[in-house]
Amino acid sequence: MKQPSDLKNILSRIDGKEYKAYKDLEGIYQWSRFRLAIDHVQGDPFASPSRFRVQVPLKTGLFPRDTLIQPIRRMALCDYLTRQFYKNIGKHVKGRRGSGKSGSISITCPGQEVLSRTSVLVDKDKLEARFVVGLPAAGRRVLAQQAEEMIFSEIPAVVEESLFYASFDSQDLYAHLKSVEDQDHLRSQLNRLGLVAFVANGSLLPRMSGVDPRPLKKGAIPFITPKSLEVTVELPNSGRIRGLGIPQGITLIVGGGYHGKSTLLNALMLGVFNHLPGDGRERVVTVPDAAKIRAEDGRSLVKLDISPFINNLPLAKSTQEFSSDNASGSTSQAGNIMEALEIGTSLLLVDEDTSATNFMIRDHRMQELVEKKNEPITPFIDKVRQLKEELSVSTILVMGGSGDYFDVADIVIMMDNYQPKDVTKTALAIAAKYAAERKKEGGPSFGNVPARILKGESLSARQDKREAKVETRGRYTILFGTSLIDLSSVEQLVEEAQTRAIGLALLYLKDHYLTTGRPLKTILYDLEKELISKGLGVLSSHKLGNLAWPRKLEIGAAINRLRGLKVV
Ligand code: ADP
Ligand code: MG
Repeated sequence: MKQPSDLKNILSRIDGKEYKAYKDLEGIYQWSRFRLAIDHVQGDPFASPSRFRVQVPLKTGLFPRDTLIQPIRRMALCDYLTRQFYKNIGKHVKGRRGSGKSGSISITCPGQEVLSRTSVLVDKDKLEARFVVGLPAAGRRVLAQQAEEMIFSEIPAVVEESLFYASFDSQDLYAHLKSVEDQDHLRSQLNRLGLVAFVANGSLLPRMSGVDPRPLKKGAIPFITPKSLEVTVELPNSGRIRGLGIPQGITLIVGGGYHGKSTLLNALMLGVFNHLPGDGRERVVTVPDAAKIRAEDGRSLVKLDISPFINNLPLAKSTQEFSSDNASGSTSQAGNIMEALEIGTSLLLVDEDTSATNFMIRDHRMQELVEKKNEPITPFIDKVRQLKEELSVSTILVMGGSGDYFDVADIVIMMDNYQPKDVTKTALAIAAKYAAERKKEGGPSFGNVPARILKGESLSARQDKREAKVETRGRYTILFGTSLIDLSSVEQLVEEAQTRAIGLALLYLKDHYLTTGRPLKTILYDLEKELISKGLGVLSSHKLGNLAWPRKLEIGAAINRLRGLKVV
């Protein structure tokens, strides 16, 4: 094992030399309280920064046993430590000192969700933080003194304040762990309670803005459940709490414009993840396989059976193996549902704001004017009950625009000045008073959800003879070989680190799963199982710190949006 003095010697030897001389730093160094691994040194100051790791033995970090025993607490601890590390970089790192990325130190920046990531990991005897460092240069020459300052004073300062129990406010740390544990427990209770979602009283749902997911600071009205829908749940740390229990079945959210309907649905859609305490949605949970569905015109679809919703297209185009490079609003929405069903979901979340009108409704006047034989679309309203009865898939639907849905709803919640009211009885009475004249369409059963099998070459990012790179460009784009995968309508993707993991997962699937000839659904299930047991580390031979947990629905969403995907 090398010593910090060895590192110092190398630095003084390479000062002022060509940038490549920094390569000599690669290796592992033993500090008194931690170990520093320099895994990869960047080729030049403008390239991706160098990969560093720090390891702290648990014996030295002194984390109490109860922060580590349960897997969920370990995950929450790693999330907490990543946030501390991130914050302390801001505090201790001077930043830019030279050309390109010189002087930067960075770790994955977590958002409002508490996710399993590779930025901080814990095993039975140590903690490990993974971060990147822009080794400093003047032009393309080594700036050894600056590097020394970064490695010998900035990094140790960050590490001391981020990876040792003694440096934390233990109350704050435990609040984080306990909140996450409670959320996980709450989510695990949903099935037993016959619920698909739960929103605790007092939750604060509105966000700062459409692009800022932090809680709205001023004027947020807390969520209070109507008595008729109130459910009590017992949490391991917080004891008994009450809130809105949304039962399995079909739930309609109605109400005037601007009364908080979409805000509620968005909170539910992200209730598949745990949230930071103080987020306002840390007691809003949804079944883990919930799928947000929307129209996404322009996307591609490959050999997908959309016949439950779309039939008799002009020119007799098949809808049992439907492909399009440019799907319409309604076909894309049908496609999004069919893909989610294929991969596996027990809850669809649909908002009228992001739906195709002709996919959602077709009223009796229109039925009379345009005969069914001339309308390929069977609207969602005629399928939503079959989904529940035949496939046990529930739906929560925001629909302020059509009372026809009263006929198919189990529960109707009205958002009224940001407060939920139970208007089920009134809505059903109105439905009885004005019997809908529309005819039910689409036949007596939902239809098929075939399991597609991908061809082996489907996920090859190969360009010419070389294996091409898979790159992530922000949260919503994966460059896969020469194709761009557009994930901007995949709303349950919350961090770029997830997107990066998805990109690697595609390559991993190609190498390890696609050759087996089993259906997409099965390989995603098996991949998820493997990632749970072995961790995200299996996705790359490098020890990357910038990956976060993606659900199999989002991995599938990326595959399904790959133009040029090949289905058997
Ligand atoms: P709708 O979908 O019913 O038209 P939105 O959910 O889009 O309404 O909400 C409209 C506005 O009200 C948004 O700017 C949102 O942030 C804000 N809002 C939503 N819920 C609350 C709340 N509980 N307290 C304060 N403002 C809220
Ligand atoms: Mg809305």
